[in-house]
Amino acid sequence: MKCRRCKGSAVIKMPRHNTAFCDPCFQEYLLKQVAKAISSGKMFSKDAPVLVAVSGGKDSLALWDILIKLGYETVGLHLNLGIGTYSETSQKMVEKFANARGLELIFHSYQESYGLGVVQIAKESARPACSACGTMKRHHFNRIAMEKGFPVVATGHNLDDEAARLLGNLLKWQVSYLEKQSPVLSDDDGLWAKKVKPLYRLPEREIAAYTILNRIDYIVEECPMSKGAKTFTYKETLNQLEEASPGAKHQFYLGFLKQKETSFPTPPPANIENTCLSCGQPSMGDQCGYCRLIERATAVS
Ligand code: SF4
Repeated sequence: MKCRRCKGSAVIKMPRHNTAFCDPCFQEYLLKQVAKAISSGKMFSKDAPVLVAVSGGKDSLALWDILIKLGYETVGLHLNLGIGTYSETSQKMVEKFANARGLELIFHSYQESYGLGVVQIAKESARPACSACGTMKRHHFNRIAMEKGFPVVATGHNLDDEAARLLGNLLKWQVSYLEKQSPVLSDDDGLWAKKVKPLYRLPEREIAAYTILNRIDYIVEECPMSKGAKTFTYKETLNQLEEASPGAKHQFYLGFLKQKETSFPTPPPANIENTCLSCGQPSMGDQCGYCRLIERATAVS
């Protein structure tokens, strides 16, 4: 198999583009896709540092690596969720990556902060684990970004993640979620750091190839709490569609984003006028969802 661009020996076949690339041409293509996502979404510039949320998985570590190669100033943020050996291994992977490159890394450990991991916090507050985990991640990403002066938080969500989320939102006709689904979430009030997903143009398969070619070590196991998650079924369905019709995921998600620009009403402003009396973060009422969750979990335990 030959690289379609330089006729060298190809390392990856890409049916969605009806092409194949050698290692250097593939990496050039991949970096260009991320650069295009950043510039077309006006995600961030080289004037301010970007806080990169790194879980220890392939997507977030690949994102960090790519942003450095593109010349952005970055600092990593790792939340240790306190999920046994899964969290221990995840943290080790992040540390290994950062130490090998001399990168700055911020840690936050749930176990050290509350004496509980996310699974126990969810159990004690009678919430599903992933719902509690999402509330806590949102809180800490924003709190740490605002406290440390980062205008932007970047996460490693890829095309497969976003297409699966879109499929889930469509199947349930969750219109308010559809309105808000975007690779760029900004806040004009300055209460929230901007949240961006620079990998949204790239499928998981291409990111996995990038980590192999760059010898990036990452945690292969999925979080144990993700067992049975619907998102895997949606991803499998989309993979079947992609197999039968290469480019289907890209058309589905990027087509949605294009339609949204013209056909969707602008989502109403969040109207968050209060700050939480406990933590000072933006909140609809006197206490934010995160503080209610922690209060309930620590009161019971
Ligand atoms: Fe959190 Fe694990 Fe659920 Fe993901 S699968 S939201 S990391 S608990």
